[in-house]
Amino acid sequence: MNNLNPRQQEAVKYIDGPLLVLAGAGSGKTSVITRKIAYLINECGIKAHKIFAVTFTNKAAKEMKERVSRLVQGKEAKGLTVSTFHTLGLTMIRYELDACGLKNNFSILDADDCQRLLSELLHKDNSPEADQKQALKWISKKISDWKNDLIPPVQAVSVAQTKEDLMAAHIYDAYQRHLRAYNAVDFDDLIALPTRLLQENQAIREKWQDKVHYLLVDEYQDTNTAQYLMVKLLVGVRGRFTAVGDDDQSIYAWRGARPENMVELTKDYPQLKVIKLEQNYRSMARILNAANAVIANNPHVFDKKLWSQHGLGDLIRVITCPTDRDEAEYVANDLVNTKLMNRRTFKDYAILYRGNFQAKAIETQLRELQVPYKLSGGTSFYSRAEIKDVMSYLRLIINPDDDSAFLRIINTPKRAIGPVTLEKLGVYAQSRGVSLLTACTELGLAAHLGQKKAVVSLHEFGTWLEEHQREILDNTDPVPKIRQLLSDIAYEDYIRETAPTPQGAEVRLENINFLLNSIQNMLNKAEDEEDKNIEAIIRKLVLIDLLEQQAEADDSDRVQLMTLHAAKGLEFPHVYMIGLEEDLLPHRNSIDADTVEEERRLMYVGITRAKQTLTLTLAERRKSGADFRSTTPSRFLEELPQDQVEWQGRRSQKSPAEKKRIGGAHLANLKALLNS
Ligand code: ATP
Ligand code: MG
Repeated sequence: MNNLNPRQQEAVKYIDGPLLVLAGAGSGKTSVITRKIAYLINECGIKAHKIFAVTFTNKAAKEMKERVSRLVQGKEAKGLTVSTFHTLGLTMIRYELDACGLKNNFSILDADDCQRLLSELLHKDNSPEADQKQALKWISKKISDWKNDLIPPVQAVSVAQTKEDLMAAHIYDAYQRHLRAYNAVDFDDLIALPTRLLQENQAIREKWQDKVHYLLVDEYQDTNTAQYLMVKLLVGVRGRFTAVGDDDQSIYAWRGARPENMVELTKDYPQLKVIKLEQNYRSMARILNAANAVIANNPHVFDKKLWSQHGLGDLIRVITCPTDRDEAEYVANDLVNTKLMNRRTFKDYAILYRGNFQAKAIETQLRELQVPYKLSGGTSFYSRAEIKDVMSYLRLIINPDDDSAFLRIINTPKRAIGPVTLEKLGVYAQSRGVSLLTACTELGLAAHLGQKKAVVSLHEFGTWLEEHQREILDNTDPVPKIRQLLSDIAYEDYIRETAPTPQGAEVRLENINFLLNSIQNMLNKAEDEEDKNIEAIIRKLVLIDLLEQQAEADDSDRVQLMTLHAAKGLEFPHVYMIGLEEDLLPHRNSIDADTVEEERRLMYVGITRAKQTLTLTLAERRKSGADFRSTTPSRFLEELPQDQVEWQGRRSQKSPAEKKRIGGAHLANLKALLNS
């Protein structure tokens, strides 16, 4: 506690009522939460299993857990919940299965699976929209918004104003019925379902309010309506909670976040205590000044001042490069140079960008220089569609009860088994208490389904898969049998038909080959009999998949590449922000929609990740298809305090020597240096 400042200490020790800690970036909000958890356990004697802390990303939750475990002895921390809102929601659903109308082995559909279901439903509706894809995107956002606002389908239908809204509401209704029939939920349901349950069921609400003795919420500014209510219903009138947040870092409005929730709290809890923190412990003063100057251009809900005791630090560099390729080259070279000069490690560096597509150029350059890096949030191998398809077949082969795998592949490739049939299959499976795959081969299905053709299709699929299951599981050389299965369904043709380009199709086919070869290798290498079987290997792969999804665990020495959104709450000694151009940051859509303020907050989040140095880059011309288009520097660059900034490479000022440094990579030199 000694190394906290007096206001932080006050925030930690205040447990008499609801508390809101409102403070700018790097002022120790998250530190207050972790210390407070330790304080509640160590000093107040509250059992760890009665303390719940929620935050926004898995990465942040993991980091918080680690910080707490350093402060609390292992045994004492047992049962403590530190999770994302979604994981907490999932835990609640698992406890309240019956009330949620779900069965034990319910599945969670990922975004990809939901899109598939929605697109089936759209087809069925014969929607008038010419551009199916656009309509799909619009409807899925609409449904997500409804769920985040806790609006059920009936209500969506009754309040619909336009024809389009009404159509979307009907699809929403059908979508929910399908999820129910499949015994499945989507990502938004993880919050909406338990929150509605708390709202509607007094007994369950009281039970949970008793369970949650103290609740702590980080990044409070990004809660949406459903999350806000979830917090409110969990803590009840007693209001034993601490929320910390910064309205200037609210960057999820597009997902329904409402920073107004901070103001709402003062209304809901008149006894709310508000503590403001003003000292920043993270950044050198120049970086902080830059952050303050940029965000001063936004209107404010709460006034905050941030100051730092650290020295001024280096000037903030703004580097203009001729093209986006030069930009990537510059960043990679500069990073390697300064790392060598300053004897830093790779993990001290982060490269942040607005959109995932910007990572590719950087990745290529880093690879050339043999710089290890970690890309967060991009498409990892196991989340590629083709890998998920093949893995779903394999999952179903080792576990016929895996309903979400069944749903993924039943129409991949197309088997003309429509959503109406699947819904009926789901209802039948539920009534019999069996999985979807098992239901396909049950005799009773015919009477339930009515349509003869559909029954035959399902039956054929079920028996076909069972055959392959035997072939693959009982064989000492199963990989050729898996290839056989894929050729049976003409999967290669399917890939060639569905990939956007022929090259894209080749990459996908290579990926599948890579997967099958990896399975073969694992089989060859397995030492004891127990591991040398296909079932164990598939199980292992499924686990790798899960681990990949939580790859945040990896803290080896690598440069961190991620979007500005993903960087929230984190800090790095040296930060590069790339693509500081109009249309990128601020993003074109925000300029069009007049939501530049949110982009400015994103800029603020980016700047305040940096502890020691900050480098901003932009390209004068950016590749777009086969051509280059000229760019305009981001308006946020002009908002920086110019006396704290060093501009390099601006066309008007660029000296030939500088041009050479920026344009031509010192690749050979650097490689030599790296290898020395
Ligand atoms: P963000 O808004 O970016 O989430 P935050 O307010 O949550 O930031 P923290 O991440 O808790 O800030 O703290 C920022 C840095 O300051 C961390 O490195 C933390 O260890 C350090 N820090 C926090 N409080 C103190 C303190 N009283 N003395 C010294 N260092 C501190
Ligand atoms: Mg924080």
